[in-house]
Amino acid sequence: MKLITYNLYNIWNQMTVMAEKCGRNPQNITLLAVSKNHSITAIKEAVSVGQYSFGENYAQEGVEKIKILDNPLLSWHFIGRVQSNKSRLVSEYFDWCHTVSCFRIAQLLNKYRSCDQKPINVLIQINISYEETKAGILLEDLPELVRKISYFPRLKLRGLMAIPKESKNNNSSLMEYQRLEKAFNQLKDDYPDVDTLSLGMSGDINDAIICGSTMLRIGTSIFGKRHQSDRELHLPGQ
Ligand SMILES: *Cc1c(COP(=O)(O)O)cnc(C)c1O
Repeated sequence: MKLITYNLYNIWNQMTVMAEKCGRNPQNITLLAVSKNHSITAIKEAVSVGQYSFGENYAQEGVEKIKILDNPLLSWHFIGRVQSNKSRLVSEYFDWCHTVSCFRIAQLLNKYRSCDQKPINVLIQINISYEETKAGILLEDLPELVRKISYFPRLKLRGLMAIPKESKNNNSSLMEYQRLEKAFNQLKDDYPDVDTLSLGMSGDINDAIICGSTMLRIGTSIFGKRHQSDRELHLPGQ
Protein backbone atom coordinates (compact mmCIF):
# COMPACT_ATOMS: atom_id res chain seq x y z
CA MET A 1 0.00 0.00 0.00
CA LYS A 2 1.28 3.49 -0.81
CA LEU A 3 2.10 5.85 2.03
CA ILE A 4 -0.66 8.45 1.63
CA THR A 5 -3.24 5.69 1.27
CA TYR A 6 -1.89 3.99 4.36
CA ASN A 7 -1.98 7.27 6.32
CA LEU A 8 -5.55 8.01 5.26
CA TYR A 9 -6.77 4.59 6.33
CA ASN A 10 -5.08 5.12 9.69
CA ILE A 11 -6.69 8.51 10.27
CA TRP A 12 -10.15 7.40 9.15
CA ASN A 13 -9.80 4.54 11.57
CA GLN A 14 -8.64 6.79 14.41
CA MET A 15 -11.55 9.16 13.72
CA THR A 16 -14.08 6.33 13.81
CA VAL A 17 -12.70 4.81 17.01
CA MET A 18 -12.55 8.17 18.78
CA ALA A 19 -16.00 9.29 17.62
CA GLU A 20 -17.55 6.07 18.86
CA LYS A 21 -15.76 6.43 22.18
CA CYS A 22 -17.41 9.83 22.54
CA GLY A 23 -20.80 8.56 21.51
CA ARG A 24 -20.65 10.56 18.28
CA ASN A 25 -21.55 9.47 14.78
CA PRO A 26 -18.30 9.26 12.75
CA GLN A 27 -20.27 10.32 9.68
CA ASN A 28 -20.64 13.77 11.24
CA ILE A 29 -16.90 14.38 11.18
CA THR A 30 -15.23 15.36 7.91
CA LEU A 31 -11.57 14.92 7.22
CA LEU A 32 -10.07 17.89 5.42
CA ALA A 33 -6.75 16.89 3.84
CA VAL A 34 -4.48 19.93 4.06
CA SER A 35 -2.50 19.77 0.84
CA LYS A 36 -0.57 23.06 1.01
CA ASN A 37 2.94 22.64 -0.35
CA HIS A 38 2.10 19.14 -1.55
CA SER A 39 2.02 18.02 -5.14
CA ILE A 40 -0.79 17.25 -7.56
CA THR A 41 0.43 13.65 -7.56
CA ALA A 42 0.00 13.45 -3.81
CA ILE A 43 -3.53 14.89 -4.03
CA LYS A 44 -4.43 12.46 -6.82
CA GLU A 45 -3.39 9.53 -4.68
CA ALA A 46 -5.67 10.75 -1.88
CA VAL A 47 -8.56 11.24 -4.34
CA SER A 48 -8.07 7.74 -5.71
CA VAL A 49 -8.94 6.22 -2.34
CA GLY A 50 -11.94 8.48 -1.72
CA GLN A 51 -10.59 11.61 -0.02
CA TYR A 52 -12.48 14.51 -1.65
CA SER A 53 -12.07 17.52 0.66
CA PHE A 54 -8.85 19.51 0.51
CA GLY A 55 -7.52 22.54 2.36
CA GLU A 56 -5.10 25.09 0.94
CA ASN A 57 -3.44 28.10 2.60
CA TYR A 58 -2.20 30.09 -0.35
CA ALA A 59 -4.71 31.43 -2.85
CA GLN A 60 -2.58 31.13 -5.99
CA GLU A 61 -1.24 27.70 -5.17
CA GLY A 62 -4.76 26.50 -4.39
CA VAL A 63 -6.29 27.94 -7.54
CA GLU A 64 -3.61 26.31 -9.69
CA LYS A 65 -4.42 22.95 -8.15
CA ILE A 66 -8.18 23.46 -8.49
CA LYS A 67 -7.75 24.24 -12.19
CA ILE A 68 -5.36 21.37 -12.89
CA LEU A 69 -7.45 18.75 -11.11
CA ASP A 70 -10.71 20.16 -12.49
CA ASN A 71 -12.85 17.61 -10.65
CA PRO A 72 -16.41 18.57 -9.62
CA LEU A 73 -16.41 15.88 -6.92
CA LEU A 74 -13.74 17.72 -4.96
CA SER A 75 -14.43 20.39 -2.41
CA TRP A 76 -11.80 23.05 -1.81
CA HIS A 77 -11.36 24.87 1.47
CA PHE A 78 -9.31 28.02 1.90
CA ILE A 79 -7.71 27.91 5.35
CA GLY A 80 -4.99 30.56 5.11
CA ARG A 81 -5.10 34.22 5.97
CA VAL A 82 -7.23 36.08 3.42
CA GLN A 83 -5.39 39.08 2.03
CA SER A 84 -7.68 41.69 0.46
CA ASN A 85 -5.92 41.46 -2.88
CA LYS A 86 -6.43 37.67 -2.94
CA SER A 87 -10.04 37.71 -1.79
CA ARG A 88 -11.29 37.60 -5.35
CA LEU A 89 -9.38 34.40 -6.12
CA VAL A 90 -10.60 32.81 -2.92
CA SER A 91 -14.19 33.76 -3.57
CA GLU A 92 -14.24 32.71 -7.21
CA TYR A 93 -12.55 29.32 -6.87
CA PHE A 94 -13.00 27.90 -3.39
CA ASP A 95 -16.11 26.22 -1.96
CA TRP A 96 -15.29 27.23 1.59
CA CYS A 97 -13.34 29.91 3.44
CA HIS A 98 -12.48 29.04 7.06
CA THR A 99 -10.76 32.26 7.97
CA VAL A 100 -13.25 35.11 7.93
CA SER A 101 -12.19 37.34 10.77
CA CYS A 102 -13.44 40.80 9.91
CA PHE A 103 -16.29 42.57 8.20
CA ARG A 104 -14.10 43.85 5.36
CA ILE A 105 -13.05 40.37 4.21
CA ALA A 106 -16.62 39.10 4.41
CA GLN A 107 -17.72 42.04 2.31
CA LEU A 108 -15.09 41.30 -0.36
CA LEU A 109 -15.91 37.60 -0.49
CA ASN A 110 -19.58 38.46 -0.89
CA LYS A 111 -18.82 40.98 -3.62
CA TYR A 112 -16.73 38.62 -5.72
CA ARG A 113 -18.90 35.51 -5.42
CA SER A 114 -20.71 35.15 -8.73
CA CYS A 115 -24.45 34.64 -8.81
CA ASP A 116 -23.94 31.57 -11.02
CA GLN A 117 -22.28 29.84 -8.10
CA LYS A 118 -23.71 28.61 -4.84
CA PRO A 119 -22.95 31.00 -1.98
CA ILE A 120 -19.48 30.40 -0.56
CA ASN A 121 -19.49 28.55 2.77
CA VAL A 122 -17.74 30.58 5.44
CA LEU A 123 -16.47 29.98 8.93
CA ILE A 124 -15.55 32.72 11.37
CA GLN A 125 -12.06 32.28 12.75
CA ILE A 126 -11.85 32.61 16.52
CA ASN A 127 -8.67 33.48 18.38
CA ILE A 128 -9.35 31.20 21.33
CA SER A 129 -5.99 31.50 22.99
CA TYR A 130 -5.86 35.33 22.95
CA GLU A 131 -2.57 35.33 21.06
CA GLU A 132 -1.70 38.70 19.64
CA THR A 133 0.05 37.25 16.62
CA LYS A 134 -2.83 35.02 15.65
CA ALA A 135 -5.64 35.92 13.28
CA GLY A 136 -9.25 35.60 14.32
CA ILE A 137 -11.67 37.50 16.50
CA LEU A 138 -12.25 37.15 20.21
CA LEU A 139 -15.32 35.20 21.27
CA GLU A 140 -16.72 38.40 22.80
CA ASP A 141 -16.84 39.96 19.35
CA LEU A 142 -18.57 37.02 17.66
CA PRO A 143 -22.23 38.07 17.95
CA GLU A 144 -21.58 41.42 16.29
CA LEU A 145 -19.67 39.97 13.31
CA VAL A 146 -22.26 37.21 12.87
CA ARG A 147 -25.05 39.74 12.79
CA LYS A 148 -23.26 41.87 10.21
CA ILE A 149 -22.32 39.08 7.84
CA SER A 150 -25.57 37.18 8.05
CA TYR A 151 -27.07 39.72 5.62
CA PHE A 152 -24.63 38.93 2.82
CA PRO A 153 -26.53 36.85 0.25
CA ARG A 154 -23.42 35.32 -1.38
CA LEU A 155 -22.06 33.98 1.92
CA LYS A 156 -23.40 31.02 3.83
CA LEU A 157 -22.27 31.04 7.44
CA ARG A 158 -21.57 27.43 8.42
CA GLY A 159 -19.76 27.82 11.74
CA LEU A 160 -16.48 28.48 13.50
CA MET A 161 -12.82 27.67 13.08
CA ALA A 162 -9.84 27.94 15.39
CA ILE A 163 -6.14 27.23 15.46
CA PRO A 164 -5.29 26.56 19.09
CA LYS A 165 -2.00 27.61 20.57
CA GLU A 166 0.66 24.93 20.59
CA SER A 167 0.93 24.00 24.21
CA LYS A 168 2.70 21.35 26.21
CA ASN A 169 0.02 21.59 28.82
CA ASN A 170 -2.92 19.70 27.37
CA ASN A 171 -5.39 20.97 29.94
CA SER A 172 -5.23 24.56 28.81
CA SER A 173 -6.01 23.71 25.21
CA LEU A 174 -8.84 21.41 26.25
CA MET A 175 -10.38 24.29 28.18
CA GLU A 176 -10.05 26.57 25.18
CA TYR A 177 -11.71 23.94 23.00
CA GLN A 178 -14.59 23.69 25.41
CA ARG A 179 -15.21 27.43 25.34
CA LEU A 180 -15.27 27.25 21.57
CA GLU A 181 -17.64 24.30 21.60
CA LYS A 182 -20.03 26.22 23.81
CA ALA A 183 -20.00 29.23 21.49
CA PHE A 184 -20.53 26.93 18.51
CA ASN A 185 -23.56 25.28 20.10
CA GLN A 186 -25.06 28.67 20.87
CA LEU A 187 -24.55 29.80 17.30
CA LYS A 188 -26.15 26.60 16.03
CA ASP A 189 -29.25 27.33 18.08
CA ASP A 190 -29.62 30.75 16.46
CA TYR A 191 -28.65 29.94 12.87
CA PRO A 192 -30.00 26.77 11.27
CA ASP A 193 -27.30 26.59 8.55
CA VAL A 194 -24.54 26.40 11.15
CA ASP A 195 -23.20 22.86 11.39
CA THR A 196 -19.42 23.08 11.18
CA LEU A 197 -16.73 23.37 13.83
CA SER A 198 -13.34 23.31 12.13
CA LEU A 199 -10.91 22.27 14.82
CA GLY A 200 -8.10 19.76 15.18
CA MET A 201 -4.81 19.26 13.36
CA SER A 202 -2.34 16.37 13.18
CA GLY A 203 -1.34 16.74 16.84
CA ASP A 204 -4.74 16.99 18.51
CA ILE A 205 -7.23 14.83 16.65
CA ASN A 206 -8.59 13.16 19.77
CA ASP A 207 -9.11 16.31 21.84
CA ALA A 208 -10.84 17.96 18.88
CA ILE A 209 -13.26 15.07 18.49
CA ILE A 210 -14.00 15.05 22.21
CA CYS A 211 -14.85 18.76 21.97
CA GLY A 212 -17.29 18.43 19.12
CA SER A 213 -15.14 19.15 16.06
CA THR A 214 -16.97 18.33 12.84
CA MET A 215 -14.02 19.02 10.56
CA LEU A 216 -10.42 18.02 11.17
CA ARG A 217 -7.71 19.79 9.19
CA ILE A 218 -4.89 17.31 8.77
CA GLY A 219 -1.76 17.85 6.70
CA THR A 220 1.39 16.26 8.02
CA SER A 221 -0.14 12.97 9.17
CA ILE A 222 -1.48 12.39 5.66
CA PHE A 223 1.12 13.83 3.31
CA GLY A 224 4.24 13.92 5.48
CA LYS A 225 6.41 16.92 6.26
CA ARG A 226 6.08 20.05 4.16
CA HIS A 227 9.03 21.75 2.53
CA GLN A 228 8.38 25.33 3.53
CA SER A 229 11.50 26.76 1.91
CA ASP A 230 10.63 25.17 -1.46
CA ARG A 231 7.32 26.94 -1.51
CA GLU A 232 8.92 30.26 -0.74
CA LEU A 233 11.35 29.74 -3.60
CA HIS A 234 8.71 28.85 -6.13
CA LEU A 235 5.82 31.07 -5.17
CA PRO A 236 7.19 34.46 -4.18
CA GLY A 237 4.86 37.23 -3.12
CA GLN A 238 2.26 35.07 -1.37
C1 LIG B 1 -1.19 23.69 7.83
C2 LIG B 1 -2.46 23.80 8.54
C3 LIG B 1 -3.11 22.66 9.04
C4 LIG B 1 -2.51 21.27 8.97
O1 LIG B 1 -1.54 21.15 9.96
P1 LIG B 1 -0.77 19.75 10.20
O2 LIG B 1 -0.08 19.97 11.50
O3 LIG B 1 0.18 19.60 9.06
O4 LIG B 1 -1.76 18.67 10.26
C5 LIG B 1 -4.34 22.84 9.64
N1 LIG B 1 -4.92 24.06 9.73
C6 LIG B 1 -4.32 25.16 9.26
C7 LIG B 1 -5.01 26.47 9.39
C8 LIG B 1 -3.08 25.07 8.66
O5 LIG B 1 -2.50 26.19 8.21
